[in-house]
Parts: sequence; structure tokens; C-alpha cells
Amino acid sequence: MDALTGPHSGKPQTAAAQPGRPRKTMVCPTSRPQESDEVGISFSLLVQFGINYMHKPMRPPELRGSAKVKRNIPARKREQEALRRANAYNRSLLEANLDPLVTIGPDGKITDVNAATEAVTGCARATLIGTDFSDYFTDPEKARAGYQQVFHEGLVRDYPLELRHRDGHITSVLYNASIYRDESGNVAGVFAAARDITERKREQEALRQANAYNRSLLEASLDPLVTIGPDGKITDVNAATEAVTGCARATLIGTDFSDYFTDPEMARAGYQQVFREGLVRDYPLQLRHRDGYITSVLYNASIYRDENGKVVGVFAAARDITERERAQEALRQANAYNRSLLETSLDPLVTIGPDGKITDVNAATEAVTGCARATLIGTDFSDYFTDPEKARAGYRQVFHEGLVRDYPLELRHRDGRIRSVLYNASIYRDERGNVAGVFAAARDITERKRAEEALRQREQRLSSMLLEAVRDYAIIFLEVDGRVASWNKGAERIKGYRAEEIVGQHFSRFYTPDDIANGKPDRELQIATSEGRLEDEDWRVRKGGSRFWASVVLTALQDAGGKVNGYVKITRDLTARKQAEDEIKRYTEDLKRSNQELEHFAYVASHDLQEPLRTVAGFSQLLAQRYRGKLDADADEFITFVVEGATRMQNLINDLLAFSRIGTRGNPFAPVDCEEILQIAKENLRFTIAESGVTITNDPLPALVADQTQLTQLFQNLFSNAIKFRRPEEAPCIHVSAVRLGGAWQFSVRDNGIGIAPQYFDRIFVIFQRLHGREEYSGTGIGLAICKKIVERHGGRMWVESEPGTGSTFHFTIPDQRRN
Ligand code: ADP
Repeated sequence: MDALTGPHSGKPQTAAAQPGRPRKTMVCPTSRPQESDEVGISFSLLVQFGINYMHKPMRPPELRGSAKVKRNIPARKREQEALRRANAYNRSLLEANLDPLVTIGPDGKITDVNAATEAVTGCARATLIGTDFSDYFTDPEKARAGYQQVFHEGLVRDYPLELRHRDGHITSVLYNASIYRDESGNVAGVFAAARDITERKREQEALRQANAYNRSLLEASLDPLVTIGPDGKITDVNAATEAVTGCARATLIGTDFSDYFTDPEMARAGYQQVFREGLVRDYPLQLRHRDGYITSVLYNASIYRDENGKVVGVFAAARDITERERAQEALRQANAYNRSLLETSLDPLVTIGPDGKITDVNAATEAVTGCARATLIGTDFSDYFTDPEKARAGYRQVFHEGLVRDYPLELRHRDGRIRSVLYNASIYRDERGNVAGVFAAARDITERKRAEEALRQREQRLSSMLLEAVRDYAIIFLEVDGRVASWNKGAERIKGYRAEEIVGQHFSRFYTPDDIANGKPDRELQIATSEGRLEDEDWRVRKGGSRFWASVVLTALQDAGGKVNGYVKITRDLTARKQAEDEIKRYTEDLKRSNQELEHFAYVASHDLQEPLRTVAGFSQLLAQRYRGKLDADADEFITFVVEGATRMQNLINDLLAFSRIGTRGNPFAPVDCEEILQIAKENLRFTIAESGVTITNDPLPALVADQTQLTQLFQNLFSNAIKFRRPEEAPCIHVSAVRLGGAWQFSVRDNGIGIAPQYFDRIFVIFQRLHGREEYSGTGIGLAICKKIVERHGGRMWVESEPGTGSTFHFTIPDQRRN
């Protein structure tokens, strides 16, 4: 308390004379006193005053050696000489004295003064001597009463007067005065010495003011202040003490200090401790108000001393800590709440000081480290992790940035077990807002990591199994810059490199020199990056430089943000297929060529056979007409065989000519109406139709761009077959329909004939293939082959559906095209 270091407890500051300190107001060096023999002051008196006013009593030096002198000089002269010396000495003592000295006769007139008196009055010695002593004071009457008192009582002490300087300046003095006597013992006058107390008075005034100031400080203090005497009684209080005790100042003063506390014994022990040790700090007590209300206080107290340094009491200042205690209690409860929050957390929680030492932990932290709370607190946070440096970097980051999220660390249990955790941490602050430490919560992700790891391993195993299983595929992962990142067994097989010799190499080495020169590898990566995927089929190069026909799918891989971070390239070696295809293509070309040759041959042969055949047929028919019944029976039969054989051969040759003409001698395509074509076909077959009693119906049929003659031929052939392969027990029915499918018309010709077994579905379209007996069903086996060829010439295809004994449906498509 400031009050304790004030004037109360300070060193006594009195106006007492201090050696070597001149009194400025009294020094007057210019006015030196004159030598005079008239001073009749006895030595003994002067000595008496000298002792009173000088710190070192002195004796005249000549007196010490007086025995030596008296042997040579006559007694009278010796005495006179001694007196002269004594007077001179007295005079100089007088003059040396800094206090104003004066001698006064019985009439009150000044008989002598010293230089200090001259200075304080501002009058010369000569002026002063003979004048009234009392004239030089503000209160002459009091001055007169003073010296009269001396004459009356022999002496006065500390008689207060005020000397008036000639210029009006006032000097407060205390007079000490006594009578002095002549050699005969008669009272000769009064010797008066003034002590200038102006300075002392000023100091007293200052002290008075300081006291008043202290008092107001005391009163202004909101803390209850009290002073206690050595007997434990209250000597003073301030208003705050009145308020807290509910007692008036007057009531309190003089009563026992200890009476006002809930524990008087402890209060007593407190001020006794102050008296014993000089002070106490934060001594807790509880003040009891008169109405019972309790105030918790902390006392700071110290002893205080009077001017002389003597202990006079205890100054005690109480600080009301009820509020603070209440706040502390609230804080304690909050802490308890926090603590229970902390403890109920299943996550390991920890607080760390700025030095990285653990300041608190919860039970979960104890469990995960295997160390008790007491052991953990005060140790380095980073010590409990597999990577202490990373742990340290973590909490430093928190101090630096205020918080971290999902900071991965591995906690090490005392027994060596490792737990993977993610730390979320933030700084926390004290009441004043200063960073007090870091609060860190760990989330145990060991299980999650384990599950993730298991999943990852399983995926890896699966994918490596897959990669290895598909040995027909080279599956290569590429870095974003085109370097090979991984390589499977299929790649090894197809491209010839082992993984260890190719991983890290650029993938362009699988391209032909031409492709590399044209920048194809980079172009493919660019396309895959922009389009996501690229397919290619081309020659590639395997280890050793040989080429293989590769079908390649290059797919860009993206990270979570959609950024391409690599590629997967799946390559198949299709060299064998390519070779087979090329071969087929060659064969097909050959076949086509020989087919054409064959058709040409068939056409030429048929055409050339037609002429002699026509002769054979014509003349054998003539033979039959002219000679039937005129030769023997055998001859008639033989002629019939010739005629029939020639007719069959003519049919065959006509069919062959028709077949070979389809591809090479067809008409140009033109718009045709299929319903019209149907009518023409029916008209051409009118005898057969009439004879068989067949019913031919149709749905609406489209108009097409086609070879009308060939389409008519097509329908005619199908109708002929349907009639020919009818079931005898049922009247034949034919129905024609057409539907539009995709870019083509699909026609269907359905009959209710004998049907075809499924194994012949393909064979019946091949030339000269006949299923049914030649005796039973006449035919060349070319009809359906011609149909198929016509359909194919129009770009369509043909097939049959049938159920033996129920009927057949012949389907064919004619693409909806406007030109051939
Ligand atoms: P063919 O001159 O023998 O009729 P096709 O090429 O026209 O020669 O027919 C080949 C064979 O397909 C026929 O011999 C017959 O066995 C079978 N066939 C053709 N059309 C039908 C049909 N509508 N019903 C049953 N069988 C048929």
C-alpha cells in the first residue's frame, strides 16, 4: 500500500539542527562586528550557552597554558591580561555563533548584539545598542514580558517571538535566555539567544499539510484502511472501514481490531505478525458487518513509526476480494465443468504451454499413452509421438497460425503400440487475451486407417490379380508426362520388356519411327487429355524392333479436382487377327474374281449350250409329234425321255443364265411400286396359280428404288416354291407384308406349306441345294440362290423362318435407297 510508505512510516523529519548546514537567512558576511572591550558577559555564562548551542563545547586555548604565564608577569597584570583574552575569546565565540545573540540591561535596553542579530534585524550594532529590545519584534509586549520573565525567574526556554527585519521581513525565533551576573554576583542583565525556527515552522506546516493529504488519501481509498496501536486497538479508520463494518469511526477507534472479523484469533495473529516482521502481504480474513454480512478481504499491513523511528502502530489496508472470490468460484466451477467435458471426451485431449510442455490431459490421453496424468504434465508434448519433430512442427504451427486441422500424427503407447491420430488444435487465451497455450484434440483413426489399408491392399491385390489375369492385354499406367508408371504381365508378353527395364521410360518408344517423327505419341496424350479417351489401331513396335498390330485404348485419369494426373493405356496385340483378316480379304477378292469367272463361264457355257439344246429339244419334239404311235412302244417312250430331258436342261440353262446375269447384267435401279411388282409376278404365274388354287394376299407395300425385273423374279420364285411345297391336305395360302426397320424395308412372304427343318435354313440358299425328292418336286435348286443374289445386289440380306408341317416365312430386306 502506498499509504504505508508515506510520512507515517518514513524517517522522522524534524527541524533539528544538522551539522554543516548553514542557515542561509542568518548569514551576513559584509557586516563584520567591531572589536569591543565593553562586553561584560561572564565566561561561565558563555560557556553555558556554548554547551547549549554548540555541538562541540570548546575552551579558550590560552587558559590551558595559564600556569606557564603566571611565573613571569605580576598578578594584577596577569589577571587583566587573562580577562582581556577571555573577553576577546568570548567576543569571537559570540560572533562565530550563527544564532542571533543579545544582552539586555535591567531597563530592557540592548547592551550588546552579535553579527547574527545585525543580520536578522537589518540594523548595525551601534544602532541596536541602547535601544529597546522589545522594539524589534512584531509583538513588543510579548518580548518585554519575555525578558521580564527572565529577570524574574532566572531563565526562559523556547520563548516564541517574531523578529521584524528593518525591511519588514519576519523571522520566527525561539528565545532561550538567562540572567547573568557581574563579578559581585549582582544581576547585570539578560543574555538571550534566538533560534531561527522559520525553517522548522515551514517544515511543520509541510508536515501538517502532508498529514491532511494523507488523511484525504486515506479517506479516498475504496479499500478499508485502519491503523492499530501496539495494544491491538484501532487508532484510526477510513470511511471504507466504516462501510464494511457498519460502525462509525468514533465507535471503531479504541476498540479491538480483531473484534471485527469472523476469526478474531487469526486477525490478532495477523497484526502481531506485522509487529514482529514489519509487514504482511495478502493476509486473508473475513470482515463481519454489524448486520452479519461477511466480506472476504486480503490484508496488506506494515508497521509505521513516529519521527524518532519508534514503532507506533500498524497500518493495515484490506482489499475486498468477495467479488474476486465469487469470480474465482465461478471460474472453479467453469473449470470443473470444462474438466468433466474434457474427461467425458473419448478423444485424447491435451493442453500445451508455449514451451511445448503438456499442461493438462484427459483420461483418454492417459489411455492412449499408457502414462498417468501426473507423469504427462510438464513433459514435452512431442515426446509421445513416433515423429517428435513433426509433432513439434504441429503445435508451432498452431501458435503461428492460430489453429490446425486434421494434422496426422502417430501416438506411441508406453508399451510400444502405435495409434494413428488426426489432431485438431487451436490456441487458447487467458482472461487478458494473451495466448496461454494450445488445446489439441486427437481423433484416433487407427481403425479407420487399418480398414482403409485393408481395403487398399485388397484392391491392390485384386487389381494386380486382374492385371495379371488379363494376359492378353498390356495394361500400362502412364505419368502425366508420358513416363511408364506401371507395367503388367500382359505388357511384358506383348511388348517384350520386363517391368524393371521399362518403368520410368517414356511410352513413345512403342511407336514406329514414322509415328514418333510425326509427333503421334504426344498428340495421342493431348487427345486423351481433352476427350478423356482415345482409341487407335495401328502398328506399334516391341522390344527388338519388330512390329505388331495394336488395338489401343488410352484413357486419361483424373484426380478429385478433375485434373488429369495420368493415363491408363490398354493395348491388345491383334497381329494374328490382322493377318487373318488380311488373308480373308485376299481370299474374298480371289473368290470374287473366280466367282465372276465362274459366272462368266456359266453364262458363256449356258449360252453356247442353249443353241444345240434348242436343236435337240426342237427336233425331239418334232419327232414326237410326227412319229408317236407309228413306231413301236419303246420308241415312243424313248422319244418322250429325250423331250423331257431337253426341257429340263433348257430350264436349268435358263436358271443358270438368270443366276449368272444377276450380278453382271442387271438393269439400273429405278423407282418401283412393290404392289405393282406383285401384280406382274402373279400375272406371270397365272396358270400355276389357277391350277393350284392358291390364295395370295398382301399388306400395303412400299415404293422403292430397285431393279424391277429382278424384284419381280424374286417374288415369282418365292410364290412358285410356296405353291410347289404346299401341303396336299390344305389349300395353299401366301401372304406378303413389309415393315420399315432402320434404314430398310423388311419384306416377309409367308406360306402354309410343308416347312423346312432348321438345319437347312442356310443350305437352301446355296445353288443346287434341294431338300426334297426330285421325283416328288421338280426344280433346279437355283431359285433361292437367285433370290438371295438379287437381295444382296440391292444391299439387303435374306433368311428363312420355318416350322416343318406348318409353313415357312422368307424374309428379305431392301435398303431404302434411291440409287444403287
Ligand atoms: P428348287 O428348284 O428345288 O425349288 P430352290 O432353290 O427354289 O430350288 O429351293 C431349294 C429347296 O428349298 C427346295 O428344293 C426345297 O427343298 C426348299 N424349299 C424352297 N422353298 C420352300 C418352301 N416354300 N417350302 C418348303 N421348302 C422349300
